[in-house]
Amino acid sequence: MGILLTRATVLTGKQNDKVLTNGAVAIDNDKIIDVGDSDILESKYQNFDKHVLTNRLIIPGLINNHTHTVLNVLRGAIENAGSADRVYGYMVPISFVMTDEDRKALAAVGCLEAIKSGTTTLVDPLRFVNSYAETMANTGLRLYLAESAADAVTTEIRTSGYRYDKSWGDAFLERTLQLIDNHHATKNNRVQCMVAAHATDICSPWLLRELNDIAHSKGLRRTIHLAQSSQEVTQVKSMAEGKTPVEYLLENDWLGRDVLAAHCSYCTTSDIGLLSETATSMAHCPASSARRGYHGLANMPGLVDLGVNVTLGTDNMSEDMFEAMRVGLILNRGMREDTGVPTPKDIFNWATINPAYSLEREDLGNIDKNMKADISIVRLDRAHLSPIIDTLSSLVHYGQASDVESVIVDGEWVMKEGKVLTMDEEEVITQAQNATIRAWSALKKQWGDIIIPEEFDQFLS
Ligand SMILES: [Zn+2]
Repeated sequence: MGILLTRATVLTGKQNDKVLTNGAVAIDNDKIIDVGDSDILESKYQNFDKHVLTNRLIIPGLINNHTHTVLNVLRGAIENAGSADRVYGYMVPISFVMTDEDRKALAAVGCLEAIKSGTTTLVDPLRFVNSYAETMANTGLRLYLAESAADAVTTEIRTSGYRYDKSWGDAFLERTLQLIDNHHATKNNRVQCMVAAHATDICSPWLLRELNDIAHSKGLRRTIHLAQSSQEVTQVKSMAEGKTPVEYLLENDWLGRDVLAAHCSYCTTSDIGLLSETATSMAHCPASSARRGYHGLANMPGLVDLGVNVTLGTDNMSEDMFEAMRVGLILNRGMREDTGVPTPKDIFNWATINPAYSLEREDLGNIDKNMKADISIVRLDRAHLSPIIDTLSSLVHYGQASDVESVIVDGEWVMKEGKVLTMDEEEVITQAQNATIRAWSALKKQWGDIIIPEEFDQFLS
């Protein structure tokens, strides 16, 4: 039986630029088949399962274009680490000592948070993804998963710098192929795989070539962290005859319409020109980046103005796209010293239409006929959202993740009236805490010099 969502406010239009009051959305299987006035749709679809949504807003499901759910294992612990190396000092080491069970538990809690905050699609590259991809797939989310490959021995960088080792890279290539074989185009195509190079400083030309071969032979999209830190820029300069990370990717055929590059924080104006010319999309992770203090985000206005397709992600330690939208709006206005740009519609499209474009998904990102039924339903009867004058403006400036009441992905209810249907919420939260204690205990045992937060140390073995 089809689903009819009715008597709601509906955000629709190709550019998410129309607000229908007393609107309705008809869903059949995994598709939206009609959008319009409630009276008309109620008479047209009388046998559909009807849901009356007074004081509710129907929006396209949010697309988190860059995240690492498993790294929630570090949540609250390393945001205040000052000049400490968060990537090679914590994220990489802990991702290697976690067991498959630990990874599954953290991936599950990340997916739970994503669903509860109105996200319907995650782009999630990390390590050992094959071990927890099924757990993520079973949450009902739409997924783009990738094994984030490197051939620099990343666990050594923190103590002894960069050493490139083919066997290290081969293990990643093997895991990349395993992930693709097991999960690409599964669950009614809801789960897709990408090919990922972790970052420019830790991928040699050999590895980039091998990854390209896989992407081309399997017809997959590509993703990478790009110009994320000054350390990365310095390392690429020394190994690639003074090139910037973007120039290094251009030389190694790693820019293009099929490439999604995260951060781009240290791009020069000429680098941004190359991203624009090659139609490479970028994932901006404002909340995560801003927690690190100065991070070269001065390039954001340039990226937008030179026509790069800008998308939003949460990156580390959060799956909350409402936070990403709000921090993104505030940060980017600050950088421009312009109180009106970006607009709420710009920011909302960075979380919907633009990521859909980056993934070449014409069927995602807005509420319209023939689009995939990936939908979030948001309560508007909230003190912090009242009164409503400009719905999208209120949603971006003041909306909270907890305003999300229901989520539909691929035509299936994933959360209904506040209850996530694909997971036992309490159990997922308990397991994530237990797994985090195990993972940090393993980290402490393997690398005794890594600083552990004092409050947490008492729980570790
Ligand atoms: Zn990242």
